[in-house]
Amino acid sequence: MSLPAKIILSVVIALNVPLMMTAAIAAEIHTAGGAKLIIEWRGEFSNEERQKLKSWMDSVMETVRLLHGEPPRPEIRIAFKPYSSRSPVPFARVLRNDPEGVLFYVNPAYPLEDFVSDWTAYHELGHLFIPYPGIADVWFSEGLASYYQNILQLRAGLMTPEETRNRFQAAFERGRKDDKHTDLTLGELSPVMRERLAFMRVYWSGALYFMEADIQLRRLDNPITLDDVLREYGQCCLTGPGRQDGLRIAREFDSITGEPVFVPLYESYELSSAIPDYEPVLAAPEMDNILTPRSETR
Ligand SMILES: [Zn+2]
Repeated sequence: MSLPAKIILSVVIALNVPLMMTAAIAAEIHTAGGAKLIIEWRGEFSNEERQKLKSWMDSVMETVRLLHGEPPRPEIRIAFKPYSSRSPVPFARVLRNDPEGVLFYVNPAYPLEDFVSDWTAYHELGHLFIPYPGIADVWFSEGLASYYQNILQLRAGLMTPEETRNRFQAAFERGRKDDKHTDLTLGELSPVMRERLAFMRVYWSGALYFMEADIQLRRLDNPITLDDVLREYGQCCLTGPGRQDGLRIAREFDSITGEPVFVPLYESYELSSAIPDYEPVLAAPEMDNILTPRSETR
C-alpha cells in the first residue's frame, strides 16, 4: 500500500470509530472454545462469508485454548471488517474497551484453510491473557503474544517442532539485526517503537523474555510452566482493579510462582540495549519440552 493510501485509511478508520459506536452494529453471540464471542459485523458479509469466519473462530478458539485449557477471557468481542487485500488477514488490532477483543480486517474471499494457517489471530488473542500494560511496556505485551503465536500453532499441529524452532531462530535474528537504537534501552525504545520502526527488537526481545522465563520455571524445585502461571493469573488477577504495568504483572507472576523469576528478568530486559543473546536460550534442554505438541507432554 502506498503511504498516502495508508494515511487516508487511518483517517477513515479514525472517523469510523465514533460513527460505529453510535450506530447500531450488527452483532451476534457465538460460542467457541469455551468463550462467548460477541461478533460484530462492521461491513457487508454474505451468509456464506459469515459462516466461514465463524468456522475460523471455532478453529482459532480451540487452538487458543491449547495454552492452558481455558480461553483468555469468558467473553470476547470479535469485530470483522472487510478489506480487499492479497492475504486473508492483512491486519488486526486488540480492542481494549470492554469486553476486550480483536478487530480483524479480513478478505473473506480466501478459503477457510488460509485463515486457519494465518498467524494473526493466534497473536492477537494471545494479548488477551494479560491486561494492556501501557505503551512503556509494549515489549512485554508484544513479547507474550509473539511467543505464544508460535507455540499455539505448534500445539495445533500447524507447525512441526523443527519449523517452530526455525521460526523463533529467524525472528530473534531479525531482532538482533534491528540494532539502530543501541542508545536506547528496551524500556526507553518501547514507547517510541512506532516512530523509530523498531518493531523487531521490541517484539522479539519480549518473546525471548517469555521463553527464558518459561525455561527458568521448568528448572524450579517444583517445576511449573508459563502456561500454569497464566492459568492462575487468569483466575486471580486478570480482571483486577487498577492500572497494570509490566512490572506489576511480573510481580504478580512471581507471587504465583513463589520464586523470583519474572521480576529479575524484567529488570534485566528492560535495561537491555540490544536483543539478549538468544542462542543459549534456544539451546536449553527445556526447549525440547517447550517445543513438543501439548498432547505428548501431558
Ligand atoms: Zn501484538
